[in-house]
This record gives sequence, structure tokens and C-alpha cells, in this order.
Amino acid sequence: MTITRREFLHTLAVAAAAGLPLADTARASAINGFYDLHQFGNNVTLMHFTDCHAQLMPTYFREPNVNLGVGDMAGRPPHLVGEALLKRYQISANTRLAHAFTYLDYVNAARTFGKVGGFAHLATLAKKVRAQRPGALLLDGGDSWQGSATALWTKGEDMVQAARLLGVDIMTGHWEFTLGAGRVRELVDKQLKGRIEFLAQNVKTADFGDPVFTAWVMREINGIPVAIIGQAFPYTPIANPRYLVPDWTFGIQEENLQKTIDAATAKGAHAVILLSHNGMDVDLKLASRVTGIDVILGGHTHDAIPDPVPVKNRAGVTLVTNAGCNGKFLAVLDLDVRNKRVAGYQYRLLPVFSNLLEPDREMAQLIRTLRAPYEKRLAEKLAVIAPPEAQAEQQPDAGQKRRHRQAPEVPPPGLVHLPGINGQAEKNALRRQQTHAGDEEPNRDRTPAPHGGDERHEARARRGGIRQYQRGAYLFWLIRPSMAGRW
Ligand SMILES: [Zn+2]
Repeated sequence: MTITRREFLHTLAVAAAAGLPLADTARASAINGFYDLHQFGNNVTLMHFTDCHAQLMPTYFREPNVNLGVGDMAGRPPHLVGEALLKRYQISANTRLAHAFTYLDYVNAARTFGKVGGFAHLATLAKKVRAQRPGALLLDGGDSWQGSATALWTKGEDMVQAARLLGVDIMTGHWEFTLGAGRVRELVDKQLKGRIEFLAQNVKTADFGDPVFTAWVMREINGIPVAIIGQAFPYTPIANPRYLVPDWTFGIQEENLQKTIDAATAKGAHAVILLSHNGMDVDLKLASRVTGIDVILGGHTHDAIPDPVPVKNRAGVTLVTNAGCNGKFLAVLDLDVRNKRVAGYQYRLLPVFSNLLEPDREMAQLIRTLRAPYEKRLAEKLAVIAPPEAQAEQQPDAGQKRRHRQAPEVPPPGLVHLPGINGQAEKNALRRQQTHAGDEEPNRDRTPAPHGGDERHEARARRGGIRQYQRGAYLFWLIRPSMAGRW
């Protein structure tokens, strides 16, 4: 495979111009180019988002400041944060892109650049890409049906409806399975049928080892046959309660994957894509062991990696990507497929800046409709953010006055006070959420906790007997081996 980065770097240069110091007019023109795509002979395009964790609304999401790689993975993608990441990917500091990909100067930058994600904004961006790339497919890497109150209360229904309107073509899963095998079957068989293909080559029945889901599909994109294989999270029954999927087995299923790739190639695929929820370290290892995959579009570990990592194996090179989380990014993979093989590629991990993209009217309306029955519950105040000086002064009254004056939109370093929950229904919902979310899971290693579920924060705080805790836990609850000890 020929690896081309010219257009990607060009885009970085354009996007880097949309930085902090620019005047409004200059910034506006740079923004105009922010989501423009460049042709380079590409004829196949795949859009990819992953781990949106049911975040229908725009949100603030801070990238981690620690990501430890073990052994020879230390200092290599995805184990790069902050300035090291900027240097590696030639992203200028103090720019919109630097803010998207790092935690640096987070509070100030978040105030400047605003919220990220939101399905109405994601929908607009997907339409922009489709307009420039006719025939492009949209792939959802999973962890989509869990992570918000409405996803919990509707048992994933809201996210399925949003994904259908968004035009998702293919998905795989992980936290989806915490809805229980019966509910997953119901949604896949009834709601997704004929619209969204749910793929997983590595989920089988525990009794006879029969496949539970379709393993792969062939899709023609501009006349070119492209095989897409699904890979659900291999450790689902370990990381999440086993009783939710008692009759299904998971695992990486490497041999079956190789057979599936070979079958797809034998049927005439000119490009083979793995839509994976393995997590990036597993994907990197898998790419070195399995042959015939052109690109792994990965998720689960929430790594926002600007450029694919090429991995050599016995038969060639496989590109490995990871596309962040919470609806913050939309990856656009362009392939130049010729002579029945991938000859070149271009990859963009486009940040979904809510204030750069008009909300799609139809999606915004759907979200309003989905949330309407729960408006009162959603409006309940769960936490009050105090300004930092309140900590130092330890004078609640003074802090109260300042809070009213300043009303910061982005929570500054300070305290979060959880006022407690009154209604029995909410208490029950919290208990259910704890159960669904697998709080007691033994293996927290690469399993993301839901950043978006206010109830989760409340539940965790209550269980731990704490009423106040640092805002870090409120904003970026990404549990990794390296970070788990912080909270
Ligand atoms: Zn996951």
C-alpha cells in the first residue's frame, strides 16, 4: 500500500490557521476551509465515529493528560498526550486542532472554542462529507446505545432512532450488550433491519458456537466492492456483567477473523475494512498477526489519533485508527482503490465543533422529540459548580455570590456539590444504571466509563459517601489503567 500524507498535512495547515490569535474575519475564512476535503484520486470513502456514548447533545470533552504505554508501547501512539502528541502530528500549539486533540490549557481553550459533538452537528458534518464524497458509507464503532439518561430510560431506543436518521450504514457493539441480549436482539432484528447492519464476527452462541450476528458484508462504493467485517468488544462478558449475555461468547476470535478476511477476498473484495471495538493496543497487535485487512477503524479506548498507524504483517501493511469518543470526531477515510487493491489513502479525524456547524434541523427536531417526555427529569439539578476561590476561602456565602455574577459556562477548577436525589424513581433509576453499567466489573482496564451520564456521577459519588469532589471526575471520566487511581 502506498501511504500518502500530503493532503492530510495540507488540511492540518489550513485548520491550524483557525487558532486563537486570529481576527474574526481571518478566523471565519479559515473555518470555511476547516471541513473541506481534497481530492487525490480517491474513489472510496468511509466515515467513522465511535464510542459516542449516547451523547446526543453538544458537550465539553477534555482529552486525557496521561496515557501510559506498557513496554515498547511507551511513547508511541496511542500513548501520546499533550505536547508530545502535537509534536508527533505537527499540530501547532494554541489552535483549534490542538484543543481538539489535547488537554492543553483546557479551560481557556474550551471557553474560546466551545462545545464539541452533538448529533445535530454531527449530522450536518456527515451531510457535508456526503456532498463531497458521493457513495460514502457511515460506520458506527459501537458504545452508542449507552451513556445518557435518555438512552437508559428508553433502553437504547433514542440512539437507534438518531443513528437511523444520521444514516449509519453499519455498526458493531460493546456497551450495547449491557441492555441485555434480548433487547439487543429486539433492536437489531426490528429497528435496524434493512437500515443498519449490526456486524460481529466474534460473537457466537455458547452451546454450538453458531454466529449470533452477521460477520461481514460486501458493499459496492462507486462500483468498487469493499468488505466490512465487524468486531465487537472481545471482553464483554468480563468487563460487563456476564448475566446480561449468558448464552453468547465473545473473544478476539483471530482464526475466525482470518477465515472471514480470506472469504471476503475470495469473493472479490478490493478493500477489506475491520470495524473494530477491540481497543487500539489490541488492534495494533492484531494487525501484525492477521493478514489481508487494509484498514482497522477502531474504537473503545477513546484515543483521538490524527493519523493512522501503519502496521506491517506477513502480507503487507494494515492501517490502524482510533476515532475518539462522545461524538467529538468524525473520521473520513478516503481510499484510492485501483487494480483491485488499495493504492493510497487520506485520513482526517475531523473534530465536530458545535459552533462551526449549524445543527441539522431534522436531527435537532428528533432530539427535541426524544427528550421531551423526560424534560422535567433532565432539568433536575444534580450538581452545583463553585468557583475556585470558594475552595480557598471556604466561605460558601462568598462563593455563592460570585457564582451568580460569573456563571462560567465551562466549569473552572473548583468543587462540584451534589445536592442529592429526592425522588424514589430517580433512586431506582440510579440502581438500574449501576447494574446496567457494570460498576462492579472486575476488569476496568480498557473499559470506558460513561462520561455523559449524570446519574453515574451521582451514583458513584453517593456510593463512595462523598458529596464533593474535584471537577476532574465530572468532566473526563475516562478510566484507564493509568488514570484509574485518581478517583
Ligand atoms: Zn467500549
